[in-house]
Amino acid sequence: MATDKFVARHIGPRKHEINQMLDAIGAESMEALMNEAVPSNIRLKEPLRLARGITERQYFRKIKDIAAKNKVYNTYIGMGYYDTITPAVIHRNVLENPVWYTSYTPYQAEISQGRLEALLNFQTVVVELTGMEITNASLLDEATAAAEAMMVMYDCRPRQMAKDGANIVFVDEKIWPQTRAVLETRARPLGIELQFGNWQNYKPADKHFGVIIQYPNSDGKVEDYRALVEKAHEKECQVAVGADLLSLSMLTPPGEWGADIVFGSTQRFGVPMGYGGPHAAFFAARESAKRYMPGRIIGITKDANGKRALRMALQTREQHIKREKATSNICTAQALLATMAGFYAVYHGPEGITTIAKQIHGIASLLAAEIEKLGYKQLNDNFFDTIRFSMAPHASVELIEQYSLELEMNFRYFDNDEVALSIDETTNLEDVNWILEVFARAACTNEPEIKELPITCTIDKAYLRVGKFMQQEVFRLYRSETEMLRYIKKLERRDISLTHSMISLGSCTMKLNAATEMLPLSWIEFGGIHPFVPVDQAAGYHLLFAELKRDLAEITGFADVSLQPNSGAAGEYAGLMVIRAYHHSRGEQQRNVAIIPSSAHGTNPASAVMAGMQVVVVKCDERGNIDVDDLRAKAEKYKDTLACLMITYPSTHGVFEASVVEICAIIHQNGGQVYMDGANMNAQVGLTNPGLIGADVCHLNLHKTFAIPHGGGGPGVGPIGVARHLIPFLPSHPVVPNGRKGIPAVAAAPWGSASVLPITYGYIKMLGSDGLTKSTEVAILNANYLAHRLKDDYGILYTGEKGRVAHEMILECRHFKAKTGITELDIAKRLMDFGYHAPTLSFPVHGTLMVEPTESESLHEMDRFVEALKTIYAEIKEIEEGKADKLDNVLKNAPHPDYKVVADEWPHAYGREKAAFPLEWIRENKFWIGVARVDDAFGDRNLICTCGSPEEYAIWQQQEETATASR
Ligand SMILES: *Cc1c(COP(=O)(O)O)cnc(C)c1O
Repeated sequence: MATDKFVARHIGPRKHEINQMLDAIGAESMEALMNEAVPSNIRLKEPLRLARGITERQYFRKIKDIAAKNKVYNTYIGMGYYDTITPAVIHRNVLENPVWYTSYTPYQAEISQGRLEALLNFQTVVVELTGMEITNASLLDEATAAAEAMMVMYDCRPRQMAKDGANIVFVDEKIWPQTRAVLETRARPLGIELQFGNWQNYKPADKHFGVIIQYPNSDGKVEDYRALVEKAHEKECQVAVGADLLSLSMLTPPGEWGADIVFGSTQRFGVPMGYGGPHAAFFAARESAKRYMPGRIIGITKDANGKRALRMALQTREQHIKREKATSNICTAQALLATMAGFYAVYHGPEGITTIAKQIHGIASLLAAEIEKLGYKQLNDNFFDTIRFSMAPHASVELIEQYSLELEMNFRYFDNDEVALSIDETTNLEDVNWILEVFARAACTNEPEIKELPITCTIDKAYLRVGKFMQQEVFRLYRSETEMLRYIKKLERRDISLTHSMISLGSCTMKLNAATEMLPLSWIEFGGIHPFVPVDQAAGYHLLFAELKRDLAEITGFADVSLQPNSGAAGEYAGLMVIRAYHHSRGEQQRNVAIIPSSAHGTNPASAVMAGMQVVVVKCDERGNIDVDDLRAKAEKYKDTLACLMITYPSTHGVFEASVVEICAIIHQNGGQVYMDGANMNAQVGLTNPGLIGADVCHLNLHKTFAIPHGGGGPGVGPIGVARHLIPFLPSHPVVPNGRKGIPAVAAAPWGSASVLPITYGYIKMLGSDGLTKSTEVAILNANYLAHRLKDDYGILYTGEKGRVAHEMILECRHFKAKTGITELDIAKRLMDFGYHAPTLSFPVHGTLMVEPTESESLHEMDRFVEALKTIYAEIKEIEEGKADKLDNVLKNAPHPDYKVVADEWPHAYGREKAAFPLEWIRENKFWIGVARVDDAFGDRNLICTCGSPEEYAIWQQQEETATASR
């Protein structure tokens, strides 16, 4: 194998190790293993029709050429996306730093304190700027955040209102068109009615339950909504406000004028526009709505010894537990981007943020005055960053557009011959003069020359924020680059990521995120493009989209692909809505039953409910397979109303079910469509595919199988592939025609999180047909090798007909509990002492661990992991045999934090060495843990989701007092 072949870098085991592993598991060859693991009736007969893999160097040239086809203009379109300056210290040390981008969602709090703190900072910024009480650690984008707000208001209706069937939400017409479209998509299947109108004419009527407005509104106007909020509240209607977070450093925050929910985007806090994403949306609410909050909330709690610690709060609301009772399907969100936005606020502090906002507003005010002098009329009385003009006597929109394009600028145009400009952080004196030149030329006058930019404020005093914000220490301490660098590094050291050791999370596919795949993300040709520019300015992107869609269609066996959904769960929702639209187009409106196996990921039933479907659960047999008789009975029982089956393949139990073709046929015979959850595509690529198996639609988690990193909980990309008959229903976009006429948009941006798509593109181009297939084979081999090594100690819960697992396996842990009291949680925590992130805990089967090594892990690393698990097994045996105490043992006390290990007092029956260095090789690369096991219940009882608040102080003081009293 030539050393410059990417496949040899992507795949962990060397050739001789592959043979060694095949030997160990008793497989004659790779082909023989595949034949044993994958049912023959679904095997592809031909290799994938994709180009051969290219080298990293060849790919680098190719992606450079593509990037060069994108044109980066100065863009003043606004509409929720603004150019911004990513501070280089954040760009280099967060965005380009694999510790930050390869870590997983911080479920294992003790080894995630760094990103938990970064996300807590993000939450603090949001609460401080919006004036609200609680918030989460990001949502997917502003438009879906609006939809979540609608849902929370709907779910929180007062009892009587719900009884009366209140189902109308009033939406001010001056809201972003993309927000409007997503609201329409989301409202329709639930029977929620959207009433669009001018907020000044709003009259709460009987069936109203909520109001949605935007601040500043979509024309750029700042309005006083106090009277509106009062009117709504009199009738117990809640008010949700879409807000520009940066503007709130100058404007009175919605929390101060009565808003119940505030949502929006944090993109302009240092996150590149990236032709639409990814960026973090925010969502803030009143304390009373905390049980209904979508997404993940980071909260403060204490560890087993009373030390302050962070963790994800209210996990009992998580969708995998609430399933069809979940109020949202958000799983992967935008953690990495939220982290960046939080750091941006830390670096600038309240003064810096305010200065940026004032500078933007000052330039907008200056331009408003100067352009009026040229004969145009500026139409926004009070504005933050957006000014809107009607034409000067001889000017026209056409001329303005022509002249602005000549100077490589994009403005926003309205149907009624008006033009608008949104100023951003990057706008400078030179830009101002270019803009004036365009307006002057179009009006046939001479432009004035501006020599300096005064900071003036033209906003009516009544709208201005009074009082301070972001007074917490963290927003004061790190203003020099040196201090900021060290702060980022300090947090980084608290987190386990792929830079430390394998992360064997089943169903999450924590594979290599190759540096070559990641590099283009840093380029302005991908980052600097607004999603609503004329498409010819994004020619490179469109070339990439076209090839990527074709390649993903080939890989999935489908006819077409939509790149719009921003996560796997968002893909599920999009796919179900496509199925729904298909049934409706055939006059079968009554088809609304979704059959879902009991083993499904919680997002499946949650998405089905959001798509207006009724969930019918089908059982699994004792071997973990879907009970085909039960499935047939249910499909037949609901044959008149069956919409679809949602099936994960290979199943979440880690096996290729042999009956899958039959299962799909049963659904089709009864008039349903087959939705495949593609989270486990890493076991399919090149060997089989959803189209061949019989599915009609499937989402792909590009952040699992296709090498986009997890970012500590996002970004994700969840494109959907569909069979030919479903193409007409793929999601459209209201601002930029994306070639579709199907359901309205499911995301704010026409092509979703475009700027991370080069990662997947690079992954496919560099691996090529044979490399992709090889990756799947090695992923399956690695899993079977681990299963073989661990089966005697732990037991493998499910295997296929020939005794093989797919690309992951479930380790049995329930038998330890009766004899020793040790649970899967103790094992997970003990692994941290060895420097490992736990496998997936208690999903899909309670009391178990699900392990997925991926193809990227070497034999050496897997052997270390096995050694750790075998040592833990021996430690459990010590308890069983009475050699270790049932309560005071290395497992129950795990993880062992640094401050305990070095403490002068050591109260345990076992030694410090055993606690911290249970194996010799741990010494070489010890991951020191800063907190002991976190106390989830304490944090949930005292929910605090911002840092340094008076509430936090009060709780810790109380803690101190109780501790002192008990001493
Ligand atoms: C990860 C996963 C999902 C959800 O995907 P997100 O991208 O996190 O929204 C759904 N189903 C399965 C089986 C998964 O593993």
